[in-house]
Amino acid sequence: MITKPKGTYDIYNEDAKYYQYINNVFESVASLYNYEYIRTPIFEDTSLFHRTVGETSDIVSKETYDFKDRGDRSITLRPEGTAGVVRSYIENKMYGEINQPKKLYYSGTMYRYERPQAGRYRELSQFGVEVLGSDSPLIDAEVISLAYRTLETILGDNVTVMINTLGDSESRNNYREALVKYLEPHLNELCSDCQNRFKTNPLRILDCKVDKENPILKNAPKITDYLNEASQKRFDQVLDYLRLLDVDYEVNPSIVRGLDYYNHVVFEFSLNEGVNATSIVGAGGRYNNLVESLGGPSTPAVGFACGIDRLMLILKEKKEIDINPNIDVYIMAVNEEERTKAILLAQDMRWSDIKCDYDTLDKGLKAQFKQADRLNARHLIILNSEDLAKGLITVKDNLTHEEQKIDEAEILDYIISNL
Ligand code: ATP
Ligand code: MG
Repeated sequence: MITKPKGTYDIYNEDAKYYQYINNVFESVASLYNYEYIRTPIFEDTSLFHRTVGETSDIVSKETYDFKDRGDRSITLRPEGTAGVVRSYIENKMYGEINQPKKLYYSGTMYRYERPQAGRYRELSQFGVEVLGSDSPLIDAEVISLAYRTLETILGDNVTVMINTLGDSESRNNYREALVKYLEPHLNELCSDCQNRFKTNPLRILDCKVDKENPILKNAPKITDYLNEASQKRFDQVLDYLRLLDVDYEVNPSIVRGLDYYNHVVFEFSLNEGVNATSIVGAGGRYNNLVESLGGPSTPAVGFACGIDRLMLILKEKKEIDINPNIDVYIMAVNEEERTKAILLAQDMRWSDIKCDYDTLDKGLKAQFKQADRLNARHLIILNSEDLAKGLITVKDNLTHEEQKIDEAEILDYIISNL
């Protein structure tokens, strides 16, 4: 037997309901906020991710799925959604469209070569948004609150936005200098990854999972003390809007995010209960330099991505959505004449928005009753040739247990008014 690749899983049965529920909530919230759907390829030119996510990020340095295709091109399975959206924005000249800013949402699978464990897979699903073409703190607040309201709908009152700012380049440079100076004498007390990060991207050390509780990092200088006036003001505005919109947030100066392209506001969505390595269910930030660095016109942008797999695990634990099967009508038929009637009736009902089903396994009546029970059918339609000859249909309402014969012509109306 061929089995699934390591770090992947199949979404079916109960999981499929959770997956669809989460996606449906997100898609309807995104649409209410006037975001448009975008779908980009699952694989891209390898260089795209090296230039966007960054050579020194965990993702590019050790997690990408890279391969040569049959035409000897270097291809990478997308590890995240932003790079493809930005590539598409530039390639399709969306910056030239009349409607600005461009507010886009996506949902789909991403690929990272990680050590698989609960809440961490090699094929993962994310939903997210990107807004390109606005530098306004209003948009920062909109993107954060869109994600927050989506997560609140899915998980209830169990999410906090951990938020920080990386400031503009002046603030960030001043901070980097101070951080390097502080860390230098302690270097050999940090993990080997951090010693490398020190050379390539020292801010990233604050994001280290190994050294997280290390007092050296806990006592490190904070970006919040190095912001220039403009950066501080901008950050305060975002926080003001978040309070106005009643979004629960906590300023956390150690949030720097693992990707190279962020500036100004960065944030993570963290569970209030059950905190562990996978309690971060989403993250994002502003990335004002990315479009230009990929060859597009200078365009400010902000976005977030949430991990659907982790949300599924949490929902499953809480069991708050109804995942039981249920249909409106189960149609029972045994002989050929009844079966022909059943498929016609089912077609009419389905196209009248009535969810229904019937036996296709040649089962007897008793087995069909059982199947109707398993599907939690609200109504049973019990076809028989004698009734049919008189133009009648027997219906049983499983809620009221009432059984009656109804004129064939009235059956759709009867079901519709009794759902
Ligand atoms: P982590 O710190 O857990 O590795 P990350 O910083 O790499 O997360 P992002 O790149 O910001 O994660 O992705 C956004 C969200 O996607 C995460 O908050 C998480 O919920 C989810 N996610 C990331 N990696 C995985 C994975 N391997 N499996 C399942 N979900 C993931
Ligand atoms: Mg990661």
